[in-house]
Amino acid sequence: MPKAVGIDLGTTNSVIAVMEGGKPEVIVNAEGARTTPSVVAYKGDERLVGQIARRQAALNPQATLFEVKRFIGRRWDEIREEAARSPFKVKEGPGGSVRIEVAGKDYAPEQVSAEVLRKLVNDASAKLGEKIKDVVITVPAYFDNSQREATKQAGEIAGLNVLRVINEPTAAALAYGLERKGNETVLVFDLGGGTFDVTILELGDGVFEVKSTSGDTHLGGADFDQRIVDWLAGEFQRDHTFDLRKDPQALQRLIEAAEKAKIELSSASETTISLPFITFDPETRTPQHLERTLSRAKFEELTSDLLRRVREPVQQALSDAKLSPSDINEVILVGGSTRIPAVKRIVQDIIGKTPNESVNPDEAVALGAAVQAGIIQGDSALGDIVLVDVTPLTLGVEVKGGMIAPMITRNTPVPAKKTEVYTTAENNQPGVEIVVLQGERPMAADNKSLGRFKLEGIPPMRAGQPQIEVTFDIDANGILHVTAKEKTSGKEASIRIENTTTLDKTDVEKMVQEAEQNAAADKARKEKVEKRNALDSLRIQAVQQLDEAQNADQGAKDKLKAAADAAEEAVRSDDDAKIDAAQKALEEELRSFMTANQGAAQTGAPDSGPTVNTRKDDDVIDADFKPAD
Ligand code: AMP
Repeated sequence: MPKAVGIDLGTTNSVIAVMEGGKPEVIVNAEGARTTPSVVAYKGDERLVGQIARRQAALNPQATLFEVKRFIGRRWDEIREEAARSPFKVKEGPGGSVRIEVAGKDYAPEQVSAEVLRKLVNDASAKLGEKIKDVVITVPAYFDNSQREATKQAGEIAGLNVLRVINEPTAAALAYGLERKGNETVLVFDLGGGTFDVTILELGDGVFEVKSTSGDTHLGGADFDQRIVDWLAGEFQRDHTFDLRKDPQALQRLIEAAEKAKIELSSASETTISLPFITFDPETRTPQHLERTLSRAKFEELTSDLLRRVREPVQQALSDAKLSPSDINEVILVGGSTRIPAVKRIVQDIIGKTPNESVNPDEAVALGAAVQAGIIQGDSALGDIVLVDVTPLTLGVEVKGGMIAPMITRNTPVPAKKTEVYTTAENNQPGVEIVVLQGERPMAADNKSLGRFKLEGIPPMRAGQPQIEVTFDIDANGILHVTAKEKTSGKEASIRIENTTTLDKTDVEKMVQEAEQNAAADKARKEKVEKRNALDSLRIQAVQQLDEAQNADQGAKDKLKAAADAAEEAVRSDDDAKIDAAQKALEEELRSFMTANQGAAQTGAPDSGPTVNTRKDDDVIDADFKPAD
């Protein structure tokens, strides 16, 4: 059975891991890196994913998509503000969903994330030598139902079988706790690129039991970067009157420089941000440069409100778990942003303990996901691990007066099932509309509406007489299914909760097909590039032969030179048929030339004809383009 892998689909970076000999191991990508930037760029009909996409971001800001996880499973009105800060075009899609427009084409965030997943899995399949299909994908614990659904759909669009969607902090705790023996209460503090989660777990004897979880899906490293971007743009505007953030290229450079400065400030107390030729003055048409020094103290001042915002979820998680800070045995830091000294200080301050830094904050989540994949596949090396996770937010239905009636409260262990009986508010009401909500606020309108459905055909009855049984069923992925049944008439209705922002089945199928076609196009493109490179290598070999066999017969030299020139022209023409013909002709010429001049040249002719080494050229061939299977 091919192995199942664990994937940390991060806001900024993603990581893939697998169980090897009873231990989770990170799988390096085609570029040899352990983390892959969650960046996708569109260049004509080509798609670049990972480092190669990130590298060209400043030159192609409107078609280089990053931090798309911030938009996945969201409604447009939830992300409108974040969207306005993006160098690429994020807009409202069908049913209040989110779409990203690149060169006139709309992409769902799920589709973009699917590209990242596809690259991770293709690279890992090549490394492991087997085609990977089964995956466990992590999500922030505080992701709501539609964000989880959308992540699962991203996996499906990438052609994967998503065995489980698991919470990131829980995954990190799995990685941490795998080799711990005693009983402990741990707090996982996970501040990544775009989201913040706090989870408290009890570990002991192979049981990982989540006690509570809390967080903020609008808080992450990118917000810290944004503060630096705003500061830099503000400083620049003071001197130049125009706003750099309005120029997508300048904005992309500001974002990159801000992140770099932030990272440097985790180890240095001061850093210089230098952006020569950041823009042209629109009036004088002269190039403008930006150079500023940022101290750690100033950075902490710029981000003081963000730093304050991490406190509340920690306190909430403690109070939900009915624990005080002194009950926490270990604090585990996960997510790149926990490297910010002020963040560490705050955690230490709240819990009163030095955080445990034994886990690698960038890799722990993927490693834990691989452990979960191993558990599901019955990896015998893992023994009997039991994992009890919880639902992060309260789920309920809307009732009279626009209130929410909670069905499953936050921090209930999942899977969970709950049935409640409701009735009608008016006489002879022929049907009811069931509005499913998620959130902690008492009024329905203040919570997230996950979806609505109608139960119709209720026979005429007085108000209060019908017995409408509503069942909420949360699966192990934290995804909700709802059914309703009117008991006297036996009428039933059910939905798998899909709100308007979630892609419907036909959308997903269409995107799967499109992704497969894209993969086939990538494969064809790769073959084409390889073909061209092979001919170019052969041409170089021919030129070398001509150089080295000076004393060869002039007629033979002319023929080989002519074939090499034809090859050069074919490479430039990009015409497949011409390339094939030139390859064949040059191979023949080179073989007969080498046979006739054996000994004249240093390079010996191989039996089966000249060897062809595919040239590695970053511009034309890239390791991102893996065969589709
Ligand atoms: P993750 O989602 O866990 O990959 O975290 C990515 C976030 O961590 C990004 O916002 C990075 O800028 C941030 N990050 C990574 N390394 C550091 C560092 N040394 N100091 C501060 N932030 C960092």
